[in-house]
Amino acid sequence: MPTVSTEQVKRWAIRTAIGAATVGVLGSVLAVLLWRDRGSLESIDWHQYPDFEAATDTVTFTWLGVSTLLFDDGETQILIDGFFSRPSLADIVLGRFVESDAATINRVIDEYRMRRLAAIIPVHSHFDHAMDIGAIANRSSASILGSETSANIARGAGVPEDQIVVVESGEEYNFGRFTVTLIDSVHAPVGWGGSVPYAGTLDQPLQTPAPVSTWREGKSYSIVIRHPQGTTVVQGSSGFVEGALVGVQADTVMFSVALLEGLGQDYAERYWQALVTATGAAHVLPIHFDDFTQPFGEIRLYPRAIDDFVKVAGWLEGFRQSWDLDARLHIPEFGRQVVAYPPASPET
Ligand SMILES: [Zn+2]
Repeated sequence: MPTVSTEQVKRWAIRTAIGAATVGVLGSVLAVLLWRDRGSLESIDWHQYPDFEAATDTVTFTWLGVSTLLFDDGETQILIDGFFSRPSLADIVLGRFVESDAATINRVIDEYRMRRLAAIIPVHSHFDHAMDIGAIANRSSASILGSETSANIARGAGVPEDQIVVVESGEEYNFGRFTVTLIDSVHAPVGWGGSVPYAGTLDQPLQTPAPVSTWREGKSYSIVIRHPQGTTVVQGSSGFVEGALVGVQADTVMFSVALLEGLGQDYAERYWQALVTATGAAHVLPIHFDDFTQPFGEIRLYPRAIDDFVKVAGWLEGFRQSWDLDARLHIPEFGRQVVAYPPASPET
């Protein structure tokens, strides 16, 4: 048997270490390159949402990233979701403890003049939708509407019980001239093997700081926002229930396209039909296409390795041509307050 000298063992150890380090460095370089490879919204040539001067009692909406949306009719404001704090990629990956960022929330409430908030309605209870609902409610007299899980997020933030409403699916809730209905839906199956990431409910008040995985889905809803001037449906995750919106007529549909590429074109087409074709909407706006690990106000698409919205935008244009030729597709513009129900005109 040949003898192995300590010299040789040392040499092997050094080679193995160098090999591992090289793989590690190359892997990191590749990860950085993949992370930086992102599509551009400029390559999508849809019309801007029609630009109309808002009278004081006109319904407007303002998109604030992911699926956070502020509706306002000059008298009453409704906030869909509440996600301003934006934990970083490192916070998420390393499972760091995070909490609502008071300075950002105060600044956003001030900048977008959320002084007449009547309701805060998360589409479901994951952190990228519901993280700040409690902190926002505490700075207003708004009610939080949603599942028991959303109620427990609010309770954990110290929101008084009389500002918390656990909804019944299909029930109408009135705020000023707005009528809001939450219809049971499902979350997009974007976890391992078609599961839902961070599924389940919160049965106790959520105490923060906590890792982002603590915010559980709870229930997912399609939100119907009716007003004498028009109706909008908001779908906050790329999941749907076939036939759930039959009988709901909408002027505008705003639907999540997060990770829709990975679910495939056939799935996306059925999703389109369940939301756009079923409601007959004239204006369609994808939302939840922006990388939510960026700070509030920075809109960048996800790395192409995770999700390719530019490709999905091509699919959507195809669905429009096959099923809903009268509908118009628009990219929402961050922070711009637009008239929700513009009069129909041929070029829009
Ligand atoms: Zn979600």
